[in-house]
Amino acid sequence: MNVENIWNKFLSMIKSRLSSLSYNTWFSSSKLVELNEDAAIIIVPTIAHKKHLSESYMDIINEIFNSITGTNFNIEFLLENEYEQIKNSNKNGMQEEVEEIGVPHNSIEKANLNPDYVFENFIVGESNRFAQATALAVAENPGKMYNPLFIYGNSGLGKTHLMQAIGNYIVKNTNKRVLYVTSDQFINDFLGLNKRDKDGTNFDYVDLFKDKYRNIDVLIIDDIQFLGNAPKTQNEFFHTFNTLYDDKKQIIISSDSSPDDLKHLEDRLRTRFNWGLKVNIFPPDNDLRKEILRKKMANMDFSRHITEDAIDYIANMCASDVRSLEGALTRVCAYSTIFFEEEITLDLAIEALKGTINQTTNFKNDIQKIQRVVAEYYNVSVEDLKSKKRVATIAFPRQIAIYLSRQLTDESFPRIGMEFGGRDHSTVIHSCDKIDKEIKNNKQLEKIIEEIKEKLK
Ligand code: ADP
Ligand code: MG
Repeated sequence: MNVENIWNKFLSMIKSRLSSLSYNTWFSSSKLVELNEDAAIIIVPTIAHKKHLSESYMDIINEIFNSITGTNFNIEFLLENEYEQIKNSNKNGMQEEVEEIGVPHNSIEKANLNPDYVFENFIVGESNRFAQATALAVAENPGKMYNPLFIYGNSGLGKTHLMQAIGNYIVKNTNKRVLYVTSDQFINDFLGLNKRDKDGTNFDYVDLFKDKYRNIDVLIIDDIQFLGNAPKTQNEFFHTFNTLYDDKKQIIISSDSSPDDLKHLEDRLRTRFNWGLKVNIFPPDNDLRKEILRKKMANMDFSRHITEDAIDYIANMCASDVRSLEGALTRVCAYSTIFFEEEITLDLAIEALKGTINQTTNFKNDIQKIQRVVAEYYNVSVEDLKSKKRVATIAFPRQIAIYLSRQLTDESFPRIGMEFGGRDHSTVIHSCDKIDKEIKNNKQLEKIIEEIKEKLK
């Protein structure tokens, strides 16, 4: 989609959300002129527009932009003459700007890796043993063992940690060139490509893009499910994949679901993801949770004794993923510091975690769980919830599940839409509003929602 199309789409979406007075005043005479890796630049007619748009409309602008592009841009408002000035100064410094996209070298920074994610601090248990072993095998023999390596599982189970550990290992032990990106970053780079294409001045950028993504030995791409939002980028990724694969370069991919369940990706990509090895990473069992708590505790800057029953308690409270477990431990430690407690006891853990676990940590990012529980409650299937079926017996549970996903997770409207069969974010907003209103007038429904929430605990 070029800049003009994006802007037209944006205008039509925002128009439906605002009064015609606000729309005409603030948006009809503004214009998107550029999308680059850093920002979306919108030219506005006056200083008042600049101020008011950035103070009062950022949320809705960001939300709509995100739903159109699948990416979070920094929105910048500029006056016409300010934009001209920046363009001129860029022209002089063009060389530098273009080089920013960077060619990955054999270093952690250039490879875009986080040095904290290494095999040494990845704790292994039954639920992730197979994933860890295959990851290490790939790290020791990139391009030779399993290609692509496809790691999937729910959020917070260690996928990013494990893939980055592979990257860090290869950078440290070989001179192979590694690149780690999230699929959002890939989309972003690709959008930059389109933009320059339109100006007819994109030759350098095309070369740099190709260099960045093809002139490497190992490509690690995280959260591939988000490519589902971006069909054109999928096409580009398809070519990148083929080039690397044909050259026997290692490709490592992560996703929240198995290739076969990535319904928004093209068949030809899904097929390719099945060529190598698929590895499922599971929620940690109790033993692993306790082991993680002990080891993380031991590695903290300040050491503090923690009783066995406190470990038991925390491990039981955060059963779904490692991220929530870490969050709970941090909270308990902070609590003990604030209250000068030398030892972390069961009582302290209970007190520190009161009211937090079920509302925040456990539910984090767990739309799938909400779908399962709601589907079961209404005796429909999760597939039904994601389907286009409009019969009330399915549509209503779907609205409830969407409403709960918004209430109980940190996910944005567009992301929730995606989890529900690729629905538009406006459908998500509509469902949330509808259930919200209905609860207020319908005691029965309020009770049902409470029951479902209870089941989610
Ligand atoms: P995902 O990418 O699957 O959502 P992450 O890799 O971001 O999950 O993991 C979430 C957090 O939990 C990170 O801080 C990570 O270091 C930690 N973590 C996950 N699994 C383990 C593990 N087995 N050992 C140590 N830390 C882990
Ligand atoms: Mg991740």
